[in-house]
Amino acid sequence: MPIRVLPDEIVSQIAAGEVIERPSSVVKELVENSIDAGAREIRVEARAGGKRYIRVSDDGCGIPAAEVELAFHRHSTSKLATAEDLTRITTLGFRGEALASIAAVSRVTCETRARDEPMGTLIRLEGGQVVTRRESGRPPGTSVTVEDLFFNLPARRKFLRADRTEQGHIDAWLTRYALAYPALRFTLVQDGKEVFRSPGNGRLRDVLIAVYGLEVGAAALEITPSPETSGETGDDSIRVSGFVSPPSLHRANRGYITLFVNGRWVQDALLSYAIIQAYHTLLPAGRYPLAVVMVKLPPQEVDVNVHPAKAEVRFRDGDMVFRAVQKAVRRTLMEQPAPPTPSAPIARPAFPGGDEEAREGRRERLAALSTGQMSLDIPTQRLEVRKRLSPLRVVGQINATYIVAEGEAGMYLIDQHAAHERILFEQLWAEKERAGVASQVLLEPRLVQLSPEAAGLIAKHAELLEGLGFQVEPFGGATVLIRALPAVVAQVDPLQVLEDVAAALSTGGDPLSGPVEEAVIRHVCKRAAIKAGQVMSHVEMEKLVRALEQCSNPHTCPHGRPTMIMLSVEQLAREFGR
Ligand code: ADP
Ligand code: MG
Repeated sequence: MPIRVLPDEIVSQIAAGEVIERPSSVVKELVENSIDAGAREIRVEARAGGKRYIRVSDDGCGIPAAEVELAFHRHSTSKLATAEDLTRITTLGFRGEALASIAAVSRVTCETRARDEPMGTLIRLEGGQVVTRRESGRPPGTSVTVEDLFFNLPARRKFLRADRTEQGHIDAWLTRYALAYPALRFTLVQDGKEVFRSPGNGRLRDVLIAVYGLEVGAAALEITPSPETSGETGDDSIRVSGFVSPPSLHRANRGYITLFVNGRWVQDALLSYAIIQAYHTLLPAGRYPLAVVMVKLPPQEVDVNVHPAKAEVRFRDGDMVFRAVQKAVRRTLMEQPAPPTPSAPIARPAFPGGDEEAREGRRERLAALSTGQMSLDIPTQRLEVRKRLSPLRVVGQINATYIVAEGEAGMYLIDQHAAHERILFEQLWAEKERAGVASQVLLEPRLVQLSPEAAGLIAKHAELLEGLGFQVEPFGGATVLIRALPAVVAQVDPLQVLEDVAAALSTGGDPLSGPVEEAVIRHVCKRAAIKAGQVMSHVEMEKLVRALEQCSNPHTCPHGRPTMIMLSVEQLAREFGR
């Protein structure tokens, strides 16, 4: 074939391919634009893993009506004017390629209004060509909607993965930016369901809780600001901040180390290594810390213009950055307070169905019922078994549902969900008996719409619920305002939790389900417990089994289902004809 110059359309598709690899690249680029635009609130909606539809909306500065078309031209940017500027980039974007690239490979609608202009603009492009343009009355800010990604690039489209996988990538990008920008509020909606929201209150620890859960969020150590950054090392220009896990908290891979350089997420094997090195001798072999580490340094010390997707950076003095990170993490680990020495075991309160007296009472209640109802699962019928468990050794997990363990008597198969329900149930019951169930105040009170009956029940029992970690108020009609939830369900959709509670309140109190409070705690634990189908790490299984050993009543879940099945060594021998 003779040499020829490629037509513009193909050139822009090739270039687009470098920036936009998959739906999550669109999300990343649009979210970066929103951050650069000074937004406080950024909302991302995706359908079918972003393959059909992605929308990113912000309340940032907006694009002036006269510049909207220009924003979609290749190499057009408001963030860079001279080559000099390239050496001191303070924005996430600067290449002026994202919008053009996205427009080249999808159908894009951009609705935007600059803060100081009376009217906004709506523009629609297909395969890079403007097909619609009109005025829009939207409030200041921008929303960009991207439909049918790669509709004109079937080859690329074929390489996209299952919706779930693409959703996961979007999720990962959004949580990264939420961690890097705690002052901004990020919301992620996938297929109509809100799956993530960051509080936007400026506190990184609160974002950690939103991303990794309460346990990690509460245990994480804040990197202490370095006092000795002046002097010969010259790393006074580097600031390291963020959170790292205490040595007691670790993971099986490096995937929980998140790094930002000047607000940009980067993958940097050396800096990850600097963090891991700081834990030297503190972690078991093959285990890695969790970390969210922000490095800030003067823009001229770092070259961000290495890769179109900008996930790599180059440092002018890499060693210095390495040392600064390692030192800051090490110091944080060394300065942490000594681990608490184990205190004397606290006396265990009586758990319902857990001690003789309670069981007696329950038998009496049962005796009053007709035998027809006796077939229901009642814990008392299974309690003949030895109460406490002997120590178990975790062997593995089957079908992401059952934990296999070895004990003195033989092989144990533990139902992870039922066992976790039992553990939580005893924990919550003990809390209730002591000072009330540990409660988590929502960063923002939530209004939920219930059925009138459910709302009525909740209002009626508001006081009882307070002792169980809830703060709820009627808010007119069937609407209920939630201010706090039991900490164990802080990560669960509050609507689901309240619906459960209402169900518990409507059945609780009858002889079979025991006192109302017990029914509520049972429902809460069911929601909070680890689900069947969830893969658990060895460490997580160990933890669960250790907690189960501590239970007064380890053999059944609070609903009376068995938590475990045991095959004795004798049984095994018999089965094998030994
Ligand atoms: P870059 O971010 O590298 O400048 P883009 O193609 O992503 O390139 O965006 C082009 C220009 O469009 C930006 O420089 C900015 O002026 C404008 N822009 C894009 N998104 C937004 C937004 N959400 N709010 C305000 N302006 C935006
Ligand atoms: Mg950009």
